Amino acid sequence: MISKLPHVGTTIFTVVSRRARELGALNLGQGFPDYDIDPRLAELVAQAMRTGFNQYAPMEGAMSLREAIASKLERYYGLRRDPLAEITVTLGATEAIFSAIQAAVGAGDEVIAFDPAYDSYEPAVRLAGARCIRLPLTQPGFRYDWDRVRATLTARTRLILFNSPHNPACTTASAADLEALADVTRDRDILVLSDEVYEHVVFDGARHHSVLCHPELAQRSFAVFSFGKTLHATGLRIGYCVAPAALTQELRKVHQFNTFSIAHPLQEAIAGYLREKPDSGAGLAPFFQAKRDRLRAALAGSAFALPPAQGTYFQLLDFSALSKEGDLRFAERLLTEAGVATIPLAPFYESPQPLPFVRLCIAKQDATLDEAARRLNRFAGAVAA
Ligand code: GLN
Repeated sequence: MISKLPHVGTTIFTVVSRRARELGALNLGQGFPDYDIDPRLAELVAQAMRTGFNQYAPMEGAMSLREAIASKLERYYGLRRDPLAEITVTLGATEAIFSAIQAAVGAGDEVIAFDPAYDSYEPAVRLAGARCIRLPLTQPGFRYDWDRVRATLTARTRLILFNSPHNPACTTASAADLEALADVTRDRDILVLSDEVYEHVVFDGARHHSVLCHPELAQRSFAVFSFGKTLHATGLRIGYCVAPAALTQELRKVHQFNTFSIAHPLQEAIAGYLREKPDSGAGLAPFFQAKRDRLRAALAGSAFALPPAQGTYFQLLDFSALSKEGDLRFAERLLTEAGVATIPLAPFYESPQPLPFVRLCIAKQDATLDEAARRLNRFAGAVAA
């Protein structure tokens, strides 16, 4: 059989988690919490199954959950969105991204993505028959080069993939970035897919700039969110997409034949949880900021440098003072020699850049973060000696 994705292997997250298990390393690679979920959520899942929510949910999402999402959009962003026509529940953010891309682009179309780009973006574009043009964010600090974006637009550009807070760069887009995004897409037939799964994880008192809050961008954007991230339960695999009715209609045409409908008892449980604890999202920034600061403090005396982390539940580790190796090789050494699994950034680039960063997940118990820091400090000490 001829591969449709000849250059695609197994995702770096799966590979690193597998290796971490085999080696018994601390897994700060793939982004998932190692602490318990709120037991109330587990009770609500059991209750939903006992109540009988065990058959197909509506294709668009359980109405109770879509209404809870609409309330959440109003509470956090002051937005009114129609749960019937503008909100779709998906199998994690990954399905929302995949289905939106299939809906929005086809053969001959061009899609712009910014490197480091989350690894599911380009394969989804290719499977749609379109071409993904990858533009690197500029160093230092992973900034957007909007002039370069303008120069890259062609009559075939149909979609721009945007992500803030940014995984794996740990940066957040500014209001000026959203303005520039609106400007480059103005009066052109270009849509935006905005991956905002870390919407609540923005640090140091800053606020999240959602495309939904930009009246012009909101009209041409699919905005994608995730309950796995906001409820500390990546195993739920429930996300959602908010988009204008015309875009939602097209998204659902793909969604209905891709995943059809999403685990019903889980949707009812999340809806119930959001009704009971509508403010749970607000606690995420201080919760993760404390973890970020704990890890940064524990590594402060080492030869590792710590680039600013403005958001997401990750922290980059700059190893340039310790080694001139590539990040793939360095991550492998951390795994085998330090016993700490991390994610290198090379897999998120079209042409891997010589960047001295690996990504650490901070969504871990304090004891896990302390032990990781201890191992990293010991490794750095040994390398420097
Ligand atoms: N979003 C997770 C991360 O960035 C990975 C999810 C996955 O493994 N597909 O670590």
